[in-house]
Amino acid sequence: MRVLVTGGAGYIGSHTCVELLNAGHEVVAFDNFYNSSPKAIERVEQITGKKITFYEADMMDMAAMNRIFDEQQIDAVIHFAGLKAVGESVKKPLMYYKNNLEGTLTLCEAMQNHGVKRIIFSSSATVYGEPAFLPITEDCPKGVAASPYGATKMMQEEMLTDFHTADPEWNVILLRYFNPIGAHPSGLIGEDPEGIPNNLVPYISQVAVGKLPELGIFGNDYPTPDGTNIRDYIHVVDLARGHVLALKKLAEEPDVRIYNLGTGQGYSVLDVFHAYEKAVGHELPYSFKPRRAGDVVSCYADPTKAEKELGFKAEFGIAEMCRDAWNWQSKNPNGYRD
Ligand code: NAD
Ligand code: UDP
Repeated sequence: MRVLVTGGAGYIGSHTCVELLNAGHEVVAFDNFYNSSPKAIERVEQITGKKITFYEADMMDMAAMNRIFDEQQIDAVIHFAGLKAVGESVKKPLMYYKNNLEGTLTLCEAMQNHGVKRIIFSSSATVYGEPAFLPITEDCPKGVAASPYGATKMMQEEMLTDFHTADPEWNVILLRYFNPIGAHPSGLIGEDPEGIPNNLVPYISQVAVGKLPELGIFGNDYPTPDGTNIRDYIHVVDLARGHVLALKKLAEEPDVRIYNLGTGQGYSVLDVFHAYEKAVGHELPYSFKPRRAGDVVSCYADPTKAEKELGFKAEFGIAEMCRDAWNWQSKNPNGYRD
């Protein structure tokens, strides 16, 4: 298939481009580089030995979106582009609603103008809020959005569902990611946050490389075995492969299909920290800090539906996730910046 990857230079987008190219798909991608670097695209081409047709474009730009669909015969869209920093979204809700919602609407309008009605959307386990039960199945009721970022995910899911209701030819897959971490085993692409990282593993990586003094663990008094939050971490390469499998599903009868992409295994913050120490080969500094506002206690997937319907099963465990995160960070201490 010829697939349009929005946000293709980003963390998950770049890893998905690799898996798509390796699986024999043609990749057209765009990004405005708000949170990424053109180097990611070059590195994807280096890893795969294949070319990407790339556009520097903003998804809020209607003319730019129409131009891509005019110039390329797109079979399906994988939609990663968006702003994703939870804390920033609380401070800048206008920017988040505008970019994520207006951007998605503009993209979808261009798709509709060109008769492209197949889309895979990057959603998140954040839509479950404080989960009603564990492990989380796709039937778990959606929770209350803890941030404008989470609200944009819920709204985008609803928008895409409404498109299918109005026009049953729209074929929509909503992938709800759990916690993607790690990097491509080559060490050529990985997560490259701007400034001080908000997320756990990028933060530990910067402690490990000596850029930050210690990890602050947000809360050790949660009702979990070691008192720290539990999450379902998934290797970004596994997650990327999940998209290639989802593409196959788009060949079936149009519908709105929802899949959790996780491993089904929950790890505490301390578990991840110690797994990372093992990958580095020595102890790292940390201290306990107060709870972070908005954190749910535990969140892990029941991945059965994705396995049954997509044939998806995560291959990598926490040791490989930390090994590859460290491999990327130690080879690229400043990310894509020289
Ligand atoms: P990322 O920031 O690395 O990638 C997103 C990309 O979109 C960036 O390259 C950014 O420059 C681009 N972008 C943003 N706004 C744009 C616009 N208006 N026009 C064009 N490009 C634009 O983030 P990621 O971690 O790769 O996440 C990809 C998607 O997955 C996002 O939608 C995110 O919300 C979702 N998601 C991520 C996680 C996670 O933990 N990383 C979890 C659940 C869902
Ligand atoms: N966390 C932490 N210190 C940090 C960053 C994160 O203790 O510097 C914890 C956070 O409280 C949560 C877990 O690590 O329990 C995962 O957080 P992250 O932001 O990576 O993902 P989230 O699950 O919040 O989307």
